[in-house]
Amino acid sequence: MSIRVLIIEDEEALQGLLEYNLQKEGFEVSIEGDGGEALTAVAENNPDIILLDWMLPNMTGIDICRALRKSPKTNAIPIIMLTARVEEADKLRGLDHGADDYITKPFSVSEVIARIRAVLRRTNPAIAGDIVSYGDITLDREQMRVKRGARPVALGPTEFKLLEVFIQRPGRVYSREQLLDRVWGQEVYVEHRTVDVHIGRLRKALNQSGEADPIRTVRATGYALDETYRR
Ligand code: CA
Repeated sequence: MSIRVLIIEDEEALQGLLEYNLQKEGFEVSIEGDGGEALTAVAENNPDIILLDWMLPNMTGIDICRALRKSPKTNAIPIIMLTARVEEADKLRGLDHGADDYITKPFSVSEVIARIRAVLRRTNPAIAGDIVSYGDITLDREQMRVKRGARPVALGPTEFKLLEVFIQRPGRVYSREQLLDRVWGQEVYVEHRTVDVHIGRLRKALNQSGEADPIRTVRATGYALDETYRR
């Protein structure tokens, strides 16, 4: 599953340049050009990282940054500010409002990609590397292998993707809708109970040797990979 990047930028040339190159790099890209719509776009896209332009129509990048940091739903999403202003004071102002990094225009695309990876390594190591672990579960993205302790866990591709979503943000509760969106994609129509079926398979594979169940069912809501099983 790829890393989701939301680009909030009104210059069409930059939108295209970033979209093309980030997609080529394997990122999943969404674009919003209007500052006034930015907060809605964040809520809808649930990105892993945001590239945020400073000067936008209807709401500035700084105000958007401040609003995202205030909300408990969005305050953990890393933000890289893009700006044409080079003055040090502006840079500090940007960081003061909660941005994780800052890139001055004009920039090279390779610099943007390097900064995205660097910020994610710092803020969300689980999503940046090939090997992710949580408790006694290890997931290797490159080799598509999962282990529980020393025991290899055989998973189908859907169960692998589900676990990959969970392990990136342990403890976070995902609704069936969010899991459908992240694992099956928005264009595919899949019934909610299909999620339950695959969760069942994932559980069975993970707990095959009688280990504690790491997946928590949250009634009327969804599922989470839960920390409490580590006790
Ligand atoms: Ca702009």
